[in-house]
Amino acid sequence: MHYKHEWFERTLINASAKKTLAEAAPEWVFAHFGAIEKGYDNCQICHARIVKFVAIRNTKNNVYLLIGEDCYDKLLHYLKTQKIETVTLMERRQYIVAIKKYCKKFINASFIAWFKARKRISEEIRKSLTVIEALGYAPSLKAAEELVEYYKAHRRFPLYELLTKQEQYVLRRYPCSPRLPKTLTLNILSEVQNRIREWADQCAEREFQKLEGEQRRKEEERRKKEKLEAQERAQGIFPLRELLTKQERDLLWQYPRRPRLPEKLHKDRLPKVRAIIARWQRVCQQQEARRKEKEQIIWEEKQRKDQIVKEVATTEIEEKIRKQPDQYLKCHFWRGINPTRKIPQWEFKRDWVKYVLDRDDDYDPAEGLVYVEVTREMVPDKVYLVMKLRLEECYDPVTREIKYEWI
Ligand SMILES: [Zn+2]
Repeated sequence: MHYKHEWFERTLINASAKKTLAEAAPEWVFAHFGAIEKGYDNCQICHARIVKFVAIRNTKNNVYLLIGEDCYDKLLHYLKTQKIETVTLMERRQYIVAIKKYCKKFINASFIAWFKARKRISEEIRKSLTVIEALGYAPSLKAAEELVEYYKAHRRFPLYELLTKQEQYVLRRYPCSPRLPKTLTLNILSEVQNRIREWADQCAEREFQKLEGEQRRKEEERRKKEKLEAQERAQGIFPLRELLTKQERDLLWQYPRRPRLPEKLHKDRLPKVRAIIARWQRVCQQQEARRKEKEQIIWEEKQRKDQIVKEVATTEIEEKIRKQPDQYLKCHFWRGINPTRKIPQWEFKRDWVKYVLDRDDDYDPAEGLVYVEVTREMVPDKVYLVMKLRLEECYDPVTREIKYEWI
């Protein structure tokens, strides 16, 4: 390792044009990280092949040295062991952390993609991008800053994409907004945001003033009204509702159409208004009576028609009984006992034939005569099961009216 130390000394001293390492070392600063784009290069200290390197710069004569990463670390270690007081070079990791910390805010996939899609970029920027792709971070803090500056000054975004929800809300809330660019670069964003904030303040202030004005106006109107009312009261003019009794006021709401009455009047004119109300009430009552009378007539007419229709149904069933005496009957039932099952049942006897009602709960002696239809022969020529018929409303498809039928 001894020979490498000599190289460090010789290279630094030569490149600095100084006599001792102690004089030469402080002149050197970190310049940037780098990656050889094609093939390889040689370390300017040990001459080994290198792909990644660290560039250091002499601040006095602006000479650059490209050194392999390993060599850089060893050089740093060597300088420390030499107890040289003012060494400005720091560990690689420290530079990388600083660069990464700065880049974190802006440099992402979208950032890189935007640069890549850009046709005309400077050689400097192109080199920086190459290093970022090779190493994962920018060559130096300065290079990163330059990239970000360029990005902020050139990439255009749609306005709404960059605004906060609050700012978007302001622009929607106050539609005749200040004139703003549709697309903008990041470096003028804060200016645009300031304008939006100012605009929001202006609008809020205007709204506040308007509101205040409205309140003042309302207050004034109310005062005027009160004053006028007081004057009127002194002259004997009152609101109608105060002059009328509760009974009279309720009366005005009782019928749908109210008479036209003044809102305010002189108390001397009250009898005249009362006469109007009384007349109106009489008219309403007459109309009401006529309406009820009409309704009654209509109802009666309907009842009468209903009765006729029901009578028609009864005539029909009587006709059926005459034509099919074995099928239809008019009868009243007596309490009997089912001879096999020993349970009560409703039955009717005629000419040695017994008719049994199918449902025991379907008859009440108070009904008297009911119409029934034979549904089943239980003992031939002796016992028949019958079903009670009911007068039901049916729709007649021929006349398209409701009619009644015993079914
Ligand atoms: Zn080397």
